[in-house]
Amino acid sequence: MSGGASEVPVRESWEGLLGVRAASGRPARLGIMGGTFDPIHNGHLVTAQQAMDDLGLDLVLFMPAGSPAFKQGRHVSSAEDRFAMTLLATADNPGFVASRLEIEREGITYTADTLKELRRRLPEGVELYFITGADAIIDIVSWHDAGTIATMATLVGATRPGYDLEWAKAAIDGSGIGFDVRYLEVPALAISSSYLRERASSGQSIRYLTKDSVIGYIEKHGLYAQAGEEAAPWGEGAS
Ligand code: NAP
Repeated sequence: MSGGASEVPVRESWEGLLGVRAASGRPARLGIMGGTFDPIHNGHLVTAQQAMDDLGLDLVLFMPAGSPAFKQGRHVSSAEDRFAMTLLATADNPGFVASRLEIEREGITYTADTLKELRRRLPEGVELYFITGADAIIDIVSWHDAGTIATMATLVGATRPGYDLEWAKAAIDGSGIGFDVRYLEVPALAISSSYLRERASSGQSIRYLTKDSVIGYIEKHGLYAQAGEEAAPWGEGAS
């Protein structure tokens, strides 16, 4: 089956832009949207835009995880399919860039490695904001090399309204690691990737929950076609 990013126009020359911004006086701010994005949906896009506006980010890199650390052995769509959907979803926003950095790195995807690699590639002084779901942030204490993450980036935990932050705050505060964590309440996060997968696999519409271009890709490639057979295991995903 064909597929993946070859079908989608690529736009990735963001390092230079951040260099210009950093040289202009105020520190450039780069958001990194970390997630599995299986599939990307409007909640992710709204989260990134809200983070951009609230935190004054210059760019947001959407970073589909190649082989997510906490999903080993689980069935997930191939990295190329998840990247292609991410590219399609972000193409019309000049402030969003889809990155292949994690899907091209071999082995389990660790956020600390990503931040170190970005630091190597970026001009000095660029501030990094790692944005993901608050549910994922709660576990950050157990992430590989968590201390490095704390020194390299501000963490941004996206929540849906009514989310109980006390538990998250207690986990982070009790860790003894000096994480800088901000929380963003995002009403559009009432939807989730699993909700889209369930709807798609039972033949229900996912229109208005994600971009039409993403829906077209899902339909063309038969992703989530049948419950329980929606994807190949890690490393075996044909695209
Ligand atoms: P997850 O457990 O699948 O997601 C937890 C919750 O957060 C879900 O409700 C999810 O909703 C939401 N979410 C995930 N990414 C989001 C985003 N960018 N914006 C808003 N909500 C988001 O989490 P995951 O996808 O496996 O991991 C999230 C990120 O943390 C990835 O970048 C991953 O690499 C990183 N991580 C790193 C380590 C490590 O370095 N050891 C360990 C775990 C996770 P949806 O399903 O709708 O997205």
